[in-house]
Amino acid sequence: MESTKPTLIKEEDIIDSLMNKEEVQRLEHIIATDSQRMQDLVNLLGYKASKSEPKQKLADTKKEFPEIKKEVDHFLGVKWIRTPYIEHVPRISHLHNEWKKKKSVRKQVKQSAGLMFWGGIFELASIELPELLHLRPDNFLSSALSSIALGAGIGAVLRIYPVLKYELGINYESANEYDPLNERIMTTKHKRAHQLSILAHEYAHHVQARKNMFAKRGDYNSFKEGHARGVERHVALEYFSKESNPAFAYEFMNNHHLPEMKIMYSWLAKKQSLPVNESLLKTRKSYGKTRMLLESQKPTAHSIGNAFFYTQEMIQGKGIYRDVIRGEFQVL
Ligand SMILES: [Zn+2]
Repeated sequence: MESTKPTLIKEEDIIDSLMNKEEVQRLEHIIATDSQRMQDLVNLLGYKASKSEPKQKLADTKKEFPEIKKEVDHFLGVKWIRTPYIEHVPRISHLHNEWKKKKSVRKQVKQSAGLMFWGGIFELASIELPELLHLRPDNFLSSALSSIALGAGIGAVLRIYPVLKYELGINYESANEYDPLNERIMTTKHKRAHQLSILAHEYAHHVQARKNMFAKRGDYNSFKEGHARGVERHVALEYFSKESNPAFAYEFMNNHHLPEMKIMYSWLAKKQSLPVNESLLKTRKSYGKTRMLLESQKPTAHSIGNAFFYTQEMIQGKGIYRDVIRGEFQVL
Protein backbone atom coordinates (compact mmCIF):
# COMPACT_ATOMS: atom_id res chain seq x y z
CA MET A 1 0.00 0.00 0.00
CA GLU A 2 1.20 3.47 -0.80
CA SER A 3 2.17 5.40 2.30
CA THR A 4 1.61 9.14 2.52
CA LYS A 5 2.82 11.80 4.90
CA PRO A 6 0.49 14.43 6.36
CA THR A 7 0.92 17.98 5.15
CA LEU A 8 2.62 20.46 7.48
CA ILE A 9 3.03 24.19 6.93
CA LYS A 10 5.21 26.42 9.05
CA GLU A 11 3.73 29.26 11.06
CA GLU A 12 5.66 31.95 9.21
CA ASP A 13 4.29 30.68 5.89
CA ILE A 14 0.77 30.61 7.31
CA ILE A 15 1.12 34.22 8.45
CA ASP A 16 2.52 35.15 5.04
CA SER A 17 -0.51 33.66 3.33
CA LEU A 18 -2.83 35.68 5.59
CA MET A 19 -1.01 38.99 5.35
CA ASN A 20 -3.03 40.69 2.64
CA LYS A 21 -5.93 43.06 2.27
CA GLU A 22 -8.33 40.41 0.94
CA GLU A 23 -7.87 38.27 4.05
CA VAL A 24 -8.65 41.23 6.29
CA GLN A 25 -11.82 41.90 4.30
CA ARG A 26 -12.73 38.23 4.43
CA LEU A 27 -12.30 38.11 8.22
CA GLU A 28 -14.35 41.27 8.57
CA HIS A 29 -17.12 39.57 6.64
CA ILE A 30 -16.82 36.33 8.64
CA ILE A 31 -17.06 38.19 11.94
CA ALA A 32 -20.09 40.17 10.81
CA THR A 33 -22.02 37.17 9.47
CA ASP A 34 -21.07 34.72 12.23
CA SER A 35 -21.91 37.28 14.92
CA GLN A 36 -25.30 37.63 13.26
CA ARG A 37 -25.70 33.83 13.27
CA MET A 38 -24.95 33.79 16.97
CA GLN A 39 -27.52 36.47 17.54
CA ASP A 40 -30.01 34.41 15.55
CA LEU A 41 -29.39 31.41 17.78
CA VAL A 42 -30.23 33.55 20.76
CA ASN A 43 -33.28 35.22 19.16
CA LEU A 44 -34.86 32.55 16.97
CA LEU A 45 -34.20 29.55 19.14
CA GLY A 46 -34.52 31.46 22.34
CA TYR A 47 -31.20 30.04 23.39
CA LYS A 48 -29.27 31.45 26.28
CA ALA A 49 -26.18 29.89 27.83
CA SER A 50 -27.03 28.78 31.32
CA LYS A 51 -24.50 29.73 33.94
CA SER A 52 -25.90 27.25 36.44
CA GLU A 53 -25.60 24.18 34.18
CA PRO A 54 -23.44 21.62 36.02
CA LYS A 55 -20.13 20.54 34.51
CA GLN A 56 -19.99 17.07 33.05
CA LYS A 57 -18.51 14.25 35.13
CA LEU A 58 -15.47 12.43 33.77
CA ALA A 59 -17.33 9.11 33.71
CA ASP A 60 -20.04 10.62 31.49
CA THR A 61 -17.44 12.26 29.26
CA LYS A 62 -15.75 8.88 28.79
CA LYS A 63 -19.06 7.26 27.95
CA GLU A 64 -19.61 9.77 25.16
CA PHE A 65 -16.12 9.53 23.76
CA PRO A 66 -16.64 6.57 21.36
CA GLU A 67 -19.29 8.58 19.51
CA ILE A 68 -16.95 11.57 19.19
CA LYS A 69 -14.14 9.30 18.02
CA LYS A 70 -16.39 7.75 15.37
CA GLU A 71 -17.39 11.19 14.13
CA VAL A 72 -13.79 12.42 13.90
CA ASP A 73 -12.43 9.21 12.36
CA HIS A 74 -15.07 9.40 9.69
CA PHE A 75 -14.45 13.11 9.06
CA LEU A 76 -10.70 12.61 8.74
CA GLY A 77 -11.01 9.35 6.83
CA VAL A 78 -8.88 7.34 9.27
CA LYS A 79 -9.24 3.80 10.57
CA TRP A 80 -7.80 1.75 13.39
CA ILE A 81 -6.75 4.68 15.53
CA ARG A 82 -6.14 3.51 19.09
CA THR A 83 -8.37 5.04 21.74
CA PRO A 84 -6.39 7.55 23.84
CA TYR A 85 -6.58 7.77 27.63
CA ILE A 86 -8.77 10.49 28.99
CA GLU A 87 -7.86 12.06 32.29
CA HIS A 88 -9.27 14.81 34.36
CA VAL A 89 -6.71 17.35 35.53
CA PRO A 90 -7.77 19.20 38.66
CA ARG A 91 -7.39 22.91 38.11
CA ILE A 92 -5.06 23.37 41.05
CA SER A 93 -2.52 20.81 39.79
CA HIS A 94 -2.72 22.38 36.35
CA LEU A 95 -1.86 25.77 37.85
CA HIS A 96 1.02 24.23 39.74
CA ASN A 97 2.43 22.61 36.57
CA GLU A 98 2.16 25.86 34.64
CA TRP A 99 3.90 27.70 37.45
CA LYS A 100 6.78 25.23 37.34
CA LYS A 101 6.98 25.33 33.54
CA LYS A 102 6.86 29.08 32.99
CA LYS A 103 10.05 30.81 33.98
CA SER A 104 8.91 34.13 32.53
CA VAL A 105 5.89 34.20 34.83
CA ARG A 106 7.98 33.49 37.91
CA LYS A 107 10.33 36.28 36.91
CA GLN A 108 7.49 38.76 36.47
CA VAL A 109 5.98 37.82 39.83
CA LYS A 110 9.33 38.39 41.53
CA GLN A 111 9.79 41.74 39.80
CA SER A 112 6.33 42.86 40.80
CA ALA A 113 6.93 41.76 44.38
CA GLY A 114 10.10 43.88 44.29
CA LEU A 115 8.13 46.83 42.99
CA MET A 116 5.62 46.44 45.79
CA PHE A 117 8.42 46.17 48.34
CA TRP A 118 9.99 49.45 47.22
CA GLY A 119 6.54 50.99 47.13
CA GLY A 120 6.16 50.03 50.78
CA ILE A 121 9.54 51.51 51.69
CA PHE A 122 8.60 54.76 49.96
CA GLU A 123 5.27 54.79 51.71
CA LEU A 124 6.97 54.43 55.08
CA ALA A 125 9.53 57.02 54.14
CA SER A 126 6.84 59.44 53.13
CA ILE A 127 5.41 59.21 56.65
CA GLU A 128 8.67 59.08 58.59
CA LEU A 129 10.99 61.29 56.59
CA PRO A 130 9.09 64.59 56.81
CA GLU A 131 8.89 64.14 60.58
CA LEU A 132 12.62 63.60 60.84
CA LEU A 133 13.21 66.67 58.75
CA HIS A 134 10.70 68.59 60.88
CA LEU A 135 8.50 69.29 57.91
CA ARG A 136 4.76 69.51 58.03
CA PRO A 137 3.03 66.35 56.68
CA ASP A 138 1.18 68.31 54.03
CA ASN A 139 4.31 69.61 52.38
CA PHE A 140 5.47 68.85 48.88
CA LEU A 141 8.03 66.11 49.66
CA SER A 142 5.55 64.12 51.68
CA SER A 143 2.85 64.14 49.07
CA ALA A 144 5.35 63.45 46.28
CA LEU A 145 6.69 60.38 48.07
CA SER A 146 3.18 59.19 48.83
CA SER A 147 2.24 59.46 45.19
CA ILE A 148 5.29 57.51 44.10
CA ALA A 149 4.51 54.81 46.65
CA LEU A 150 0.92 54.57 45.54
CA GLY A 151 2.02 54.52 41.89
CA ALA A 152 4.47 51.69 42.52
CA GLY A 153 1.81 49.66 44.31
CA ILE A 154 -0.80 50.16 41.62
CA GLY A 155 1.80 49.51 38.93
CA ALA A 156 2.80 46.21 40.53
CA VAL A 157 -0.79 45.01 40.73
CA LEU A 158 -1.67 46.14 37.21
CA ARG A 159 1.40 44.47 35.87
CA ILE A 160 1.11 41.13 37.54
CA TYR A 161 -2.63 40.55 37.38
CA PRO A 162 -3.07 40.06 33.62
CA VAL A 163 0.07 37.97 33.42
CA LEU A 164 -1.07 35.63 36.15
CA LYS A 165 -4.56 35.43 34.80
CA TYR A 166 -3.44 34.67 31.28
CA GLU A 167 -0.29 32.65 31.69
CA LEU A 168 -1.38 30.42 34.50
CA GLY A 169 -4.46 29.36 32.65
CA ILE A 170 -7.05 30.74 35.01
CA ASN A 171 -8.40 31.27 31.59
CA TYR A 172 -9.66 27.70 31.41
CA GLU A 173 -8.65 26.92 27.84
CA SER A 174 -5.06 26.07 28.49
CA ALA A 175 -6.04 23.35 30.94
CA ASN A 176 -6.95 21.09 28.03
CA GLU A 177 -4.04 19.33 26.53
CA TYR A 178 -2.95 16.32 24.54
CA ASP A 179 0.12 14.46 25.68
CA PRO A 180 1.50 12.52 22.68
CA LEU A 181 4.08 10.66 24.73
CA ASN A 182 1.50 8.89 26.84
CA GLU A 183 -1.35 9.15 24.31
CA ARG A 184 -3.37 11.01 26.90
CA ILE A 185 -6.08 13.65 26.64
CA MET A 186 -6.05 15.84 29.71
CA THR A 187 -9.00 18.03 30.42
CA THR A 188 -10.66 19.94 33.23
CA LYS A 189 -14.42 19.74 33.76
CA HIS A 190 -16.67 21.68 31.42
CA LYS A 191 -20.32 21.89 30.57
CA ARG A 192 -21.30 19.08 28.22
CA ALA A 193 -21.46 21.00 24.92
CA HIS A 194 -18.12 22.63 25.51
CA GLN A 195 -16.57 19.43 26.83
CA LEU A 196 -17.50 17.32 23.82
CA SER A 197 -16.04 19.77 21.30
CA ILE A 198 -12.88 20.02 23.38
CA LEU A 199 -12.66 16.23 23.25
CA ALA A 200 -13.00 16.35 19.46
CA HIS A 201 -10.19 18.93 19.32
CA GLU A 202 -7.83 16.96 21.58
CA TYR A 203 -8.66 13.72 19.81
CA ALA A 204 -7.71 15.40 16.51
CA HIS A 205 -4.27 15.99 18.07
CA HIS A 206 -4.17 12.29 18.88
CA VAL A 207 -4.89 11.39 15.24
CA GLN A 208 -2.21 13.89 14.16
CA ALA A 209 0.24 12.19 16.51
CA ARG A 210 -0.68 8.69 15.34
CA LYS A 211 -0.10 9.90 11.76
CA ASN A 212 3.30 11.28 12.72
CA MET A 213 2.45 14.96 12.44
CA PHE A 214 4.30 15.43 15.73
CA ALA A 215 7.50 13.84 14.50
CA LYS A 216 8.67 16.78 12.39
CA ARG A 217 10.66 19.54 13.99
CA GLY A 218 10.00 23.21 13.39
CA ASP A 219 7.16 25.51 14.21
CA TYR A 220 4.05 23.70 13.02
CA ASN A 221 1.91 24.48 16.04
CA SER A 222 -0.39 26.90 14.24
CA PHE A 223 -0.98 24.36 11.53
CA LYS A 224 -1.82 21.60 14.00
CA GLU A 225 -4.04 23.85 16.12
CA GLY A 226 -5.90 25.15 13.09
CA HIS A 227 -6.47 21.62 11.86
CA ALA A 228 -7.76 20.57 15.31
CA ARG A 229 -10.04 23.64 15.43
CA GLY A 230 -11.54 22.64 12.10
CA VAL A 231 -12.31 19.16 13.44
CA GLU A 232 -13.76 20.72 16.58
CA ARG A 233 -15.98 23.04 14.50
CA HIS A 234 -17.25 20.13 12.44
CA VAL A 235 -18.14 18.03 15.49
CA ALA A 236 -19.75 20.97 17.29
CA LEU A 237 -21.97 21.69 14.28
CA GLU A 238 -22.76 17.99 13.79
CA TYR A 239 -23.97 17.71 17.38
CA PHE A 240 -25.88 20.95 16.98
CA SER A 241 -27.95 19.45 14.19
CA LYS A 242 -27.99 15.86 15.48
CA GLU A 243 -29.35 16.82 18.90
CA SER A 244 -31.06 20.04 17.80
CA ASN A 245 -29.10 21.60 20.61
CA PRO A 246 -27.87 25.13 19.90
CA ALA A 247 -25.51 24.96 22.89
CA PHE A 248 -22.96 23.21 20.66
CA ALA A 249 -22.85 25.95 18.05
CA TYR A 250 -23.11 28.71 20.61
CA GLU A 251 -20.31 27.45 22.87
CA PHE A 252 -17.94 26.90 19.97
CA MET A 253 -18.58 30.30 18.41
CA ASN A 254 -18.49 32.15 21.68
CA ASN A 255 -15.49 30.47 23.26
CA HIS A 256 -13.24 29.91 20.30
CA HIS A 257 -14.35 30.88 16.86
CA LEU A 258 -15.40 34.52 17.16
CA PRO A 259 -12.76 35.72 19.63
CA GLU A 260 -10.01 34.13 17.53
CA MET A 261 -11.32 35.61 14.28
CA LYS A 262 -11.50 39.03 15.93
CA ILE A 263 -7.96 38.82 17.21
CA MET A 264 -6.66 37.83 13.79
CA TYR A 265 -8.71 40.48 12.04
CA SER A 266 -7.43 43.34 14.16
CA TRP A 267 -3.87 42.02 14.25
CA LEU A 268 -3.63 41.52 10.48
CA ALA A 269 -5.26 44.89 9.80
CA LYS A 270 -2.94 46.77 12.15
CA LYS A 271 0.15 45.05 10.75
CA GLN A 272 -0.83 46.31 7.30
CA SER A 273 -1.97 49.73 8.52
CA LEU A 274 -5.52 49.03 7.35
CA PRO A 275 -8.52 50.54 9.15
CA VAL A 276 -10.11 48.40 11.88
CA ASN A 277 -13.86 48.39 12.39
CA GLU A 278 -13.82 48.54 16.20
CA SER A 279 -17.53 47.83 16.49
CA LEU A 280 -16.86 44.26 15.34
CA LEU A 281 -14.42 43.56 18.13
CA LYS A 282 -16.66 43.35 21.16
CA THR A 283 -16.36 40.02 22.91
CA ARG A 284 -17.95 38.04 25.68
CA LYS A 285 -16.49 38.69 29.11
CA SER A 286 -15.45 35.11 29.82
CA TYR A 287 -12.98 35.07 26.94
CA GLY A 288 -11.48 38.10 28.54
CA LYS A 289 -10.26 41.49 27.48
CA THR A 290 -6.92 40.56 29.00
CA ARG A 291 -6.48 37.71 26.61
CA MET A 292 -7.54 39.84 23.65
CA LEU A 293 -5.06 42.48 24.72
CA LEU A 294 -2.17 40.08 25.18
CA GLU A 295 -2.94 38.28 21.96
CA SER A 296 -2.97 41.56 20.07
CA GLN A 297 0.84 41.60 20.42
CA LYS A 298 1.20 38.12 18.92
CA PRO A 299 -1.80 35.89 18.39
CA THR A 300 -1.65 32.33 19.71
CA ALA A 301 -1.17 29.30 17.47
CA HIS A 302 -4.91 28.63 17.88
CA SER A 303 -5.93 32.02 16.51
CA ILE A 304 -3.47 31.94 13.62
CA GLY A 305 -4.32 28.35 12.70
CA ASN A 306 -8.05 28.84 13.02
CA ALA A 307 -8.10 31.87 10.70
CA PHE A 308 -5.96 30.03 8.18
CA PHE A 309 -7.98 26.82 8.11
CA TYR A 310 -11.35 28.55 8.18
CA THR A 311 -10.37 30.61 5.17
CA GLN A 312 -9.15 27.51 3.36
CA GLU A 313 -12.33 25.66 4.35
CA MET A 314 -14.41 28.42 2.79
CA ILE A 315 -12.43 28.22 -0.43
CA GLN A 316 -11.90 24.47 -0.72
CA GLY A 317 -14.54 22.85 1.50
CA LYS A 318 -14.31 20.53 4.49
CA GLY A 319 -12.29 17.90 2.63
CA ILE A 320 -9.11 19.83 3.49
CA TYR A 321 -8.92 18.27 6.96
CA ARG A 322 -8.79 14.82 5.43
CA ASP A 323 -6.37 16.06 2.75
CA VAL A 324 -3.97 17.18 5.47
CA ILE A 325 -3.87 13.68 6.98
CA ARG A 326 -3.31 12.16 3.54
CA GLY A 327 -0.59 14.64 2.61
CA GLU A 328 -2.69 16.04 -0.22
CA PHE A 329 -3.44 19.49 1.12
CA GLN A 330 -2.52 22.55 -0.95
CA VAL A 331 -3.00 26.21 -0.04
CA LEU A 332 -5.33 27.98 -2.44
ZN1 LIG B 1 -4.97 22.12 20.44
